[in-house]
Amino acid sequence: MQSSLRSVVVVGGGLAGLSTCSALRAFGFAEELVLLAAEPHLPYDRPPLSKEVLTGALSPAGVELRPEQWYADNRVDVRLGTRAVALRAGEGAVETGDGRVVRADAVVLATGGVPRPLPVPGGELARVLRTRDDAEELRAALAPGARLLVVGGGLIGAEVASSAMSLGCEVTVADPDPLPLAGAVGAVVAAHLHAQHPAAGVRVLEAGVTALERRGAAVHARLSANPVAEEVEADVVLAGIGIVPDDGLASAAGADVGAGVLVGPDMRSSIPEILAVGDVARPRGSRGPLARREHWEAAVRTGEAAAAALLGTPAPAPVQPWFWTDRYGVHVEVAGLVPPEAAPVLRGDPASGSFAVFFLEAGRLAAAVSVDRGPEARASRRLVDAAAAVEPATLADESVDLRKLARATRG
Ligand SMILES: Cc1cc2nc3c(=O)[nH]c(=O)nc-3n(C[C@H](O)[C@H](O)[C@H](O)COP(=O)(O)OP(=O)(O)OC[C@H]3O[C@@H](n4cnc5c(N)ncnc54)[C@H](O)[C@@H]3O)c2cc1C
Repeated sequence: MQSSLRSVVVVGGGLAGLSTCSALRAFGFAEELVLLAAEPHLPYDRPPLSKEVLTGALSPAGVELRPEQWYADNRVDVRLGTRAVALRAGEGAVETGDGRVVRADAVVLATGGVPRPLPVPGGELARVLRTRDDAEELRAALAPGARLLVVGGGLIGAEVASSAMSLGCEVTVADPDPLPLAGAVGAVVAAHLHAQHPAAGVRVLEAGVTALERRGAAVHARLSANPVAEEVEADVVLAGIGIVPDDGLASAAGADVGAGVLVGPDMRSSIPEILAVGDVARPRGSRGPLARREHWEAAVRTGEAAAAALLGTPAPAPVQPWFWTDRYGVHVEVAGLVPPEAAPVLRGDPASGSFAVFFLEAGRLAAAVSVDRGPEARASRRLVDAAAAVEPATLADESVDLRKLARATRG
């Protein structure tokens, strides 16, 4: 362990910040550890916000990641409602909004991102869903019969549409992209998922919102012409058009940023004592910055990698990106990055509702997208992590047990 490290400040009380604290303690760091959390809540899990919390299956308090006692037991000085306002890298300190200065030999930025504002006139009338408080407010607004317009048919937008349908709302999804998520899951699965909306009774408009206007209690939305300009009146408008990484502290401190804090595999920024993890971190690639990995698994793993780097312990073995989404009762898992040019290898029949699509690059498995595939999805993920060399015909053959294949590949 690096003996000179006497204090670490983690900025951001989300999953990545908690993962960093937890890994630091697990790897043996016994010195001062402060977690600055701008929100008033202990770190909580965001994935249920658009799913179980919105449908009412889980209370908002049920999303807490660790009980209060955990912080005391692990000597994590968690400061709720406390925002870091400046990093004084040269002085080894962080300044907080309440005017205090916290000593920090190293700072781990886990500030996540904020929802991208809808860039149209009246865009501020659209709600967003990022925080526990957003979820509680949205849930209260989604009474049975409420008219909901979802702007953006990506991960969050589709999950909100699905949850709102289960609450008895009247839902419209507007997205100018005919195949949202095609880049992340490939065209076959994207088409399958997008078709769930009309099948569930959601109106889908292939158009972008160009303006929002308040009319009494309702919001009036104008949409781009495709084929004709549409107007939609809604009680609630929800924009799910991505996030903007919260990298302001890093850039003000002089670290390299570019749509996220640019980091190496050890999560260090261009200022070595400032690291970044989770949604705010953007990996440097050999040919320029890679896409940010804005998913749950990456938040956990990058926190662990940062802790290992700070303590000089070996980093956990790298794995391929992985995420999941749930909508209309269907569970989807995506392992690896879908190569844009690769031909899809289909396993199972999409019409049955349970199938997978694999993508190979130079004969090796690069990505697997599993739709309601049960435990087989885990095996597919292991094969992707191993970049297994598997024949397309083997992947397509449902009589081949992928779990056995994954075990054999690992061994
Ligand atoms: C509704 C929703 C559903 C999701 N569903 C899935 C899913 O199904 N599958 C999946 O893989 N991923 C999902 N995700 C993504 C996943 O939850 C995120 O990738 C993960 O939460 C990122 O964690 P983070 O800690 O990097 O950032 P965040 O969770 O955004 O946490 C950052 C925290 O830092 C705080 N902060 C910011 N600036 C400061 C400051 N200056 N000082 C102190 N604190 C600060 C913020 O207030 C925030 O609480 C979902 C996300 C959302 C919002």
